[in-house]
Amino acid sequence: MASPVDSNKNVPRPSNFLRQIIERDLDQGTYAARRWGGTPGDRAHHQAGEPDPAKIRTRFPPEPNGYLHVGHAKSICLNFGLARDYGGVCHLRFDDTNPEKEDQEYVDAIRDAVHWLGFRWDANGTDHDYHASDYFDFMYRAAEYLVEAGHAYVDEQSAEEMRVNRGDFSRPGVDSPYRSRSIQENLQRLRDMRDGKLADGAAVLRAKIDMASPNINLRDPAIYRIKHAEHHNTGSKWCIYPMYTFAHPIEDALENITHSICTLEFEDQRPFYDWLVEHLAEGGLVNTPPPRQHEFARLNLTYVITSKRKLKQLVDEGHVSGWDDPRMPTIVGLRRRGYTPESLQLFAERIGVSKADSWIDYSTLEIALRDDLDAKAARAMAVLDPVKLVITNWDALMGAGFLDACSAPVHPHAPERGRREFTLGRKVWIERTDYEDTPPKGFFRLFPGNKVRLKYGHVIECIGATRDASGVLVEVQATLVPDTKSGTPGADAIKVKGNITWVGVADGVKAEVRLYDRLFAVPQPGTGDRDFLEEINPDSLRVVTAYVEPSLAAAKPDEKFQFERHGYFVADRKDHREGEAAVFNRVTGMKDSFGK
Ligand code: ATP
Ligand code: MG
Repeated sequence: MASPVDSNKNVPRPSNFLRQIIERDLDQGTYAARRWGGTPGDRAHHQAGEPDPAKIRTRFPPEPNGYLHVGHAKSICLNFGLARDYGGVCHLRFDDTNPEKEDQEYVDAIRDAVHWLGFRWDANGTDHDYHASDYFDFMYRAAEYLVEAGHAYVDEQSAEEMRVNRGDFSRPGVDSPYRSRSIQENLQRLRDMRDGKLADGAAVLRAKIDMASPNINLRDPAIYRIKHAEHHNTGSKWCIYPMYTFAHPIEDALENITHSICTLEFEDQRPFYDWLVEHLAEGGLVNTPPPRQHEFARLNLTYVITSKRKLKQLVDEGHVSGWDDPRMPTIVGLRRRGYTPESLQLFAERIGVSKADSWIDYSTLEIALRDDLDAKAARAMAVLDPVKLVITNWDALMGAGFLDACSAPVHPHAPERGRREFTLGRKVWIERTDYEDTPPKGFFRLFPGNKVRLKYGHVIECIGATRDASGVLVEVQATLVPDTKSGTPGADAIKVKGNITWVGVADGVKAEVRLYDRLFAVPQPGTGDRDFLEEINPDSLRVVTAYVEPSLAAAKPDEKFQFERHGYFVADRKDHREGEAAVFNRVTGMKDSFGK
């Protein structure tokens, strides 16, 4: 049941709570009067602009500290998809407020991944590709504003004192002795922080909210810390850096974001988000109405790790061949494995969004992939565990060295895609498991005395087999039943129950086939007491030498196929070289052979 992916925005999509929120905001005209200054900026900048051409603004804000994974793909499809569906714009924003070296490799890979997934950040003549560190000047201005308005203070308690005085779930916090300093003193101390007069950790700027709040995040959260470190964008200009919880709402506000969609762990931060954007709006610093945060459950996928830190560890410690190892749940890994952008979009749409954490079964991803590939992938025959079959009466019947031309449709439901050509000769490769000396019940393939059809070719009758001294099957023998070729009038003269795939020894192409399996042996890796590295599946990769039909000599890197009976395979985008080295990755098995 193929359901082709349609990126047409007029197609109705299943509703969800985020769509309902957006539709309500559009109905009520919540953001209708907002202006847009053409670039991110403060209130004055936007007020001088035109009515915002974007009905909504969302953003995808990765930290450029690793490669994106399937969880990010969900977030990308969600944010860019909502903007597309509601006449909006989605910004790509690199969240680089930490003074760590930004790795250009990661920045490039993130842009590539979003593009490859099928989304763009240019709209209305503007490239909405931003760096949060470009907003440092404004963030500092916002910090001074909060101090001047009596909403923030410099705390010089030790980290330990601060921790103790914050209280806990059962105990309210205790006011810092620095909380009651004058605005003038606070402003001076903040400037001392900025000017490098204080050492790392000697002070922090805190929002002055409520040390007794039941929400611990509102007990005067830190908003700026001292860190004498260079930043890749701003160099040594700053020795104080904003905390994420302070920076993020500001980034959203400067970019005119309407719906700031994030994962559930930020739910407790929402009151502070609102506190901050409302105070800055009150001071006339940011555009109104301010952005609102909405949380959804992050994607957890069985047998998969979705933590950049852990994925980086897998790469750094050599458990996989790199970020794009086809077993990795990174977007580059999925791509190399043979996943298509459409299959990931389809997956994201099917799993939807919810407010409750759950685990999505890995098969959901595979089903989306099969649904997409079934209609697209050319068919081909391949023998993955080859053993030679000799047709002993071939020379007598057909003539020595004769090769009989056979063909099959490129796609069974798309005759216009033409036919694949290959030949049947005296020797063919068949699957080792297609022969049994003594057939178990229900086995219809090769055993002495049984007849089967070589798919798209003739019917043969098995007459025996040869094993080596250790019992390993080395050759199967059969005789050809004349006048039974597929597509000829005689084809139906004999009814056989077995129809086996094969590749001619004369024209088959030798190929390296990488049979991938799940990288982790347990459904929820990294969640229990065990180190996630101990949960790696030791058999996640098996490499075999296979034979594939001659049409695959022309396969291009990234091209996907359905190997009949075996599942979906892709020509490896790195190692496959057309006409030179055939290297295929197993993407996934056939639906009905799952788990066999
Ligand atoms: P990690 O903790 O692995 O580093 P992260 O959440 O810190 O991941 P970011 O670069 O901050 O990574 O994420 C960018 C965006 O992607 C965020 O808005 C985040 O909500 C979203 N995201 C990350 N992981 C998932 C996930 N598993 N499911 C859905 N969205 C996710
Ligand atoms: Mg993060």
